[in-house]
Amino acid sequence: MMKKIILFFFISILPFPTISSPLNHSSLQKISPPQNIIIFIGDGMGLGQIEVARQFEYGKHGSLFIESFPHVALIKTHSHDNHVTDSAAAATAIATGVKTNNHSVGIDPNGKEIDSILDDFKKSGRKVGIVTTSTVTDATPASFTASVHERYQGQPQVARQLLASNFDVILGGGMKYFGAKYQNGENLIPQFEKKGYTFVQNEKELGNISNSEKLIGLFHQSFLNFNLDRQMLDTQEPTLSLMTTKAIQVLEKSEDGFFLMVESGRIDHASHSADFTSLWKEMIEFDRTIQQTWEWSQQKKDTLILVLSDHETMGFSVTEPMDIQKLKNISASTTYIASVLNQTSQEFPYQPASVKSIIKKYSGIDIHDELIFKLIQNMTNEQGVLIPEYKVGWEIGSLIASQLNAGVLDRRVRYQSSTGGHTSNMVPLFAYGPNSQLFHGVLNNTDIPKLIRLLMNLPS
Ligand SMILES: [Zn+2]
Repeated sequence: MMKKIILFFFISILPFPTISSPLNHSSLQKISPPQNIIIFIGDGMGLGQIEVARQFEYGKHGSLFIESFPHVALIKTHSHDNHVTDSAAAATAIATGVKTNNHSVGIDPNGKEIDSILDDFKKSGRKVGIVTTSTVTDATPASFTASVHERYQGQPQVARQLLASNFDVILGGGMKYFGAKYQNGENLIPQFEKKGYTFVQNEKELGNISNSEKLIGLFHQSFLNFNLDRQMLDTQEPTLSLMTTKAIQVLEKSEDGFFLMVESGRIDHASHSADFTSLWKEMIEFDRTIQQTWEWSQQKKDTLILVLSDHETMGFSVTEPMDIQKLKNISASTTYIASVLNQTSQEFPYQPASVKSIIKKYSGIDIHDELIFKLIQNMTNEQGVLIPEYKVGWEIGSLIASQLNAGVLDRRVRYQSSTGGHTSNMVPLFAYGPNSQLFHGVLNNTDIPKLIRLLMNLPS
């Protein structure tokens, strides 16, 4: 009894820890706002994805460039209607400050359209742009630029809203959503050109732009290719780093500053596929793009750079028995291997011998016959029909990852998940530049635009 009383007394005299919210930061008044803000979003990038890239590229003693940023925070990502978010609800939270339902883009849980920080920058007379390796109409960029109720069916609407909005830079994939098939027989591109946009379609054309006031570049009908497959495909698409350089070149003409969102969308896609090799290459290009942007920012030191993620995908981790060398030797993405299977096989179900030899050719791994039979079974839905090609890539990736003991969610967990294997693990944020010290501690994803509005004196 005595012990209990003493313990109670002791606890009651302990001061409660005072958690100072960065949103109440008192030093804010004294610091002038940055001229520009650039947000880099690694879609699906958790600490595991970062660790894979670091160890694969530089070994256990090495570091990625993003590690050199002076301020780091952790972000909670759950959405309004689910304990695990999708990219639409996560990006809406980051872009607008409102938690919404999965699949909603720039729409609150009551169905009301909400403005993003990109809209706020535009309204205040600054230039704005988006860059992505996904489609420019996909959930992450669209949450900054548009409002649609359903992310997948809404992509043609997003293209229309982009045309109406007059944003200064739009670079990425998703050409098909601007064409006749998705726009009732109309092609939107000539209308962009009429409004003064320069339109480019490949790396060379983008590299040559010099005096563009407004720029739209669409480099693929759908997503840009994985970096791992670039050489094999001899692709004419620009890299993320070239797109970012050119976006900045157009936006920095603004005397009042600019806002740019740069997304590496395929970090998420590689993660869904449990494709460690593609993930590694996407992460390194992302890190290189950030380094190059940081170098540009050194001329004036007036740009706030935030590197963050919208959510984690597939619970990636660097496990002890994983065969890093064998994973590094894989020569194609699992998406590419799935496309080869599709092209070389006459009909489904695929022949086990051909599946085995195609996987061996690109991954270097000899897979046991029994597992090949199981893989072919997993490529079939309940009606006995072949699943979509990207999901065949998911199955191949999961099989390779398990063969090489790589740390990732089991395929059965992904199968039961409405987000295809996202997790609600906290994700990191790295900050550099004026007022970057405000981004610290544990934040909610909705705090990010609130802090930006506060420090830019934008109405919240
Ligand atoms: Zn995803």
